[in-house]
Amino acid sequence: MTDSVEARIDRLHAPGVIDMHLDLLMDLYEKRKRKNVLRDDFQPQLEAGGIGVVGAAIYIDEPYLPEQALRVGLDQIARLYEEVDSNPRFTIVRTYDEIVRARQAGKIALLITMEGVEPIGTDLNLLRVFYELGLRSVGLTHARRNMAADGGLFGANTSSRHGLPPFGRQVVQELERLGIIIDLAHLNPAGVDDVLALTKRPLIFSHTNPRKFYDIDRNASDDHIRAVGARGGVIGVNGALVGSTAEQCTLDGYVDNIEYVVELTNVDSVAIGFDYFKFIWDQWTPTQQAALVAYLAQPHFIPDLQHHGQARNLTRRLIERGWKDEDIAKLLYGNWMRVFKELL
Ligand SMILES: [Zn+2]
Repeated sequence: MTDSVEARIDRLHAPGVIDMHLDLLMDLYEKRKRKNVLRDDFQPQLEAGGIGVVGAAIYIDEPYLPEQALRVGLDQIARLYEEVDSNPRFTIVRTYDEIVRARQAGKIALLITMEGVEPIGTDLNLLRVFYELGLRSVGLTHARRNMAADGGLFGANTSSRHGLPPFGRQVVQELERLGIIIDLAHLNPAGVDDVLALTKRPLIFSHTNPRKFYDIDRNASDDHIRAVGARGGVIGVNGALVGSTAEQCTLDGYVDNIEYVVELTNVDSVAIGFDYFKFIWDQWTPTQQAALVAYLAQPHFIPDLQHHGQARNLTRRLIERGWKDEDIAKLLYGNWMRVFKELL
């Protein structure tokens, strides 16, 4: 007798789903007056969704730029260590072996990532310092320009046409030398071209959608998706930019994005980068929300995929759409693990 769908989901989630993008560290920093934020605000949903590895991003909010970027970046890492020290359910991981051991011990593994290199300013040596603190994946930019690169804007062909400046090229080479994963998410298209030309190892998009469904520079062209796949890299499909309208932003819309990446590459090149940020959105005042809409775009949260606690809904829908368990396993964790094994 074949097992029930719920038992299949249990089995598929048991190794631990990997989400390579969560804006966790900024939130821990903003809530620094509280203790046990990880335990109280994140752990229940991570456990309910069977999440095993999270890419926990350092991100520096506008008000801290530029002078406080380094200090706030370091303080975000300090907050994570403090939270993990007092919570045996989590561990900070730096290598593939540490991820495997964390999962064997039933812990949720947190991989420190960076979204925008503002914390290093123009000092390449600081990358080494962040590496020693555990940083293992870096995207050069968010939407805004910094000393290393230009971000992809939330419009079609509205971003800078410039590729990487000399400092950005140095950063990319140093990332590859140190063994830090290079993340193309948010980078402007000309910058992506430059990183592809400058590097040899697999690259990732931690949280990006195909432009086919939402044609903005912040998303990835078919050619860039193919190039990352051909390099043995992985595209983590974003849950927050599935489409420009609420009608498109459904669970099926998300799976359509996933299946299109598979169509352009193969099932070994697609993974998860949920980019859940409704918890941040909900903390904001209407003025802050309006500012984000003006600066980027109106977010449309997928109703049944709004947080990690709903991750099983995705797996259930993949099963309903005829996905084989072997392929679901690659999407949920196998492909990220392959990249971690090769690069970390
Ligand atoms: Zn992002």
